[in-house]
Amino acid sequence: MAAQREAAASSFAAAQPAALPDHVQDPAAPHSLLDTGDAASCLAECNLLNSVPVLQVHPTRRCNLACAHCYTESSPGESETLPVHLLAGAVQDAAALGYGQLAVSGGEPLLYRDLPALLAAAKAMGMITTVTSNAMLATPRRLDELVPVLDGMAVSIDGRPDEHDRMRAQAGAFDKTVANLAHLRERGLPFAFIFTLTQHNADSLAFVIRLAAETGARAVQVHPLTADGRAAHTLSSAVPDGLELMAGLMAAEVLGADLDVPVQVDVLLREQLGTLCRQLVPPTPVRQLKDAAPVLIVEASGRVLPYTHAVHPALALGNLQQARLSELATQWLQGASHGSRADRLARACGAARETLLAQDDLLAAYWYDTVAAQTHRQEGAPVTFKPNEPAWAVLRDLEVTPQMRAVAMV
Ligand code: SF4
Repeated sequence: MAAQREAAASSFAAAQPAALPDHVQDPAAPHSLLDTGDAASCLAECNLLNSVPVLQVHPTRRCNLACAHCYTESSPGESETLPVHLLAGAVQDAAALGYGQLAVSGGEPLLYRDLPALLAAAKAMGMITTVTSNAMLATPRRLDELVPVLDGMAVSIDGRPDEHDRMRAQAGAFDKTVANLAHLRERGLPFAFIFTLTQHNADSLAFVIRLAAETGARAVQVHPLTADGRAAHTLSSAVPDGLELMAGLMAAEVLGADLDVPVQVDVLLREQLGTLCRQLVPPTPVRQLKDAAPVLIVEASGRVLPYTHAVHPALALGNLQQARLSELATQWLQGASHGSRADRLARACGAARETLLAQDDLLAAYWYDTVAAQTHRQEGAPVTFKPNEPAWAVLRDLEVTPQMRAVAMV
């Protein structure tokens, strides 16, 4: 399941925020949307306020669906898949580099035959393990293999049944997903929903939050659609504007509290730009991979990208098919005439923050897109995707409440 950077996926932070990275120290930030009651557990694919750096792995682009919004352009016809021994090596290296969570996305992870072995490799290194899935293949048999090595599942729900099926390009998809939630509940496997916010569906968020309350989902993550991958062709006009982002934020605030469901919206408020400087902009020179790449992405091709899948390819670490992650990380941190790639990414974060702060009437923005767009400007290649628009003056007079602050995340 890849669509929403499930993204952002991603994004459910740890229950025990004992080991915040140096540049992530905000005691006011919500750290726990999915609390298993024992260890730190989360469903984050990307979240700067997450206390645990995340290794996000896409082991395959094969999927039972071909959703309209899929940024990895996965489908039943795709066969790109990485061997588990390569990924297990990356997991070991990532753990040694301070990554505490493995978040498996896709393609549909449940179609990756070696998923139990991959998750077991992460558990052996003490990592939290999460899977983002459409859950249509979450059969009792498959779940029984996974439950011993899986801490939580992020399940995509894109709105009411007809909206969900349209986005998923398959009639009956919603019913299959929701029916399988019973198997997750029976096994005590914590799950949360991921909802892709478009320009047209903020009003569906109420339905999804209610569904979460009814089905036992621990949380709802609201992730803005980005015009990447298949969405660039099918949904580029559905990228939410500022008004829709704020509508999502307000719905999350009101309904989440009413129904007692934690809701996180992957939106950066203007005031957070000011207060979260150290979280948003890694200090240079960057000394550790996790400082500049609190989310590290392994694509099904083996390419390793820092931060978000849309960063300029020149900032990639390299490919696991050519070298181990530990070697790629060392090279990435080493300087060249224009500085290390790590420092260049940090500079892009700083410039992205400056760009947003310069907009006097900015209220909210999608941070990851802003950084990605900045890397494309900085590295001298054309922007190949359409960044989400920040929220502009139309909402200038809207009061940001403490509750809105609590649900907005980066
Ligand atoms: S279910 Fe499959 S096609 Fe749909 S968004 Fe996820 S990975 Fe892409």
